[in-house]
Amino acid sequence: MTGKIETIGIIGAGQMGGGIAHVSALAGYNVLLYDVSVDRIEKGIATISGNLARQVASGKLDEKERKDAVSRIGSAAAMADLAAADLVIEAATEDETVKRKIYAQLCPQLNPTAVLATNTSSISITRLAAQTDRPERFIGIHFMNPVPVMKLVELVRGIATEDQTFELAKAYVKQLDKTITVSEDFPAFIVNRILLPMINEAIYTLYEGVGTVEAIDTAMKLGANHPMGPLQLADFIGLDTCLSIMQVLHEGLSDSKYRPCPLLVKYVEAGWLGRKSGRGFYDYRGEHPVPTR
Ligand code: NAD
Repeated sequence: MTGKIETIGIIGAGQMGGGIAHVSALAGYNVLLYDVSVDRIEKGIATISGNLARQVASGKLDEKERKDAVSRIGSAAAMADLAAADLVIEAATEDETVKRKIYAQLCPQLNPTAVLATNTSSISITRLAAQTDRPERFIGIHFMNPVPVMKLVELVRGIATEDQTFELAKAYVKQLDKTITVSEDFPAFIVNRILLPMINEAIYTLYEGVGTVEAIDTAMKLGANHPMGPLQLADFIGLDTCLSIMQVLHEGLSDSKYRPCPLLVKYVEAGWLGRKSGRGFYDYRGEHPVPTR
């Protein structure tokens, strides 16, 4: 069944889908990028081009590598275009309903031998796999943000994932020159199981008035030697994604210690989703980020 991967389809041209396209093209794969509109795909490709150019400017890539990578990324205007893919990685919004609808539409159009992967940060791989026509060829390939910079990829097998699927995913991640860590299929896997409760606690610390945005971030940067403060990191991840992961932990583990902070809910309700929407715990619309509390 699962042979060599030549073409990778990516669903969702946001921060993660774009990053996965970027590293896959650099590693020599042909990439087809799909999103809800051609506009979004084009915006995603423009961001990738900008990021690749920045890597050339900082000496990490040469001009030929950049050009070759750009030439390998194509847009899939319709889902049917993904029929050419050997591996499809779904990196759409962290919402189970959205992902389910995508799989229902996608599966009949895929090559029957293609492997389907999800970049979900927290949702059960087994449950998502059960929504597809190929649970044995379904797997979690969880990249970290920003994809071109972060070395780790978590691989998560669902209950039905076959060894060949796991081996194919391993070979792909190795080709990207990233390090694999294997997680069992429990809510939020390893990294986010540990990271998100810390971020949520930082938001509670803000909510209860223990410190300001700046005080909390400075405390964790200089006091715990974290490269970014937790609120800065939350903005970077996206507050909608943070909330969704906390909800998955809360519901999936039925433990009140994972209760999402009401202030996080309020920010998401306001549409203040962090860097991607221009405002979150910091306001990014000016020259420098300014704390919003
Ligand atoms: P994002 O908001 O930047 O991008 C999501 C993209 O999905 C958008 O471009 C949106 O238009 C697209 N989309 C929504 N519905 C779609 C549909 N029906 N068909 C096609 N595309 C659709 O979000 P992101 O940060 O890139 O997150 C994407 C996935 O990656 C989520 O599952 C998230 O949990 C996961 N993830 C995020 C991070 C992070 O730090 N942000 C890290 C690891 C994994």
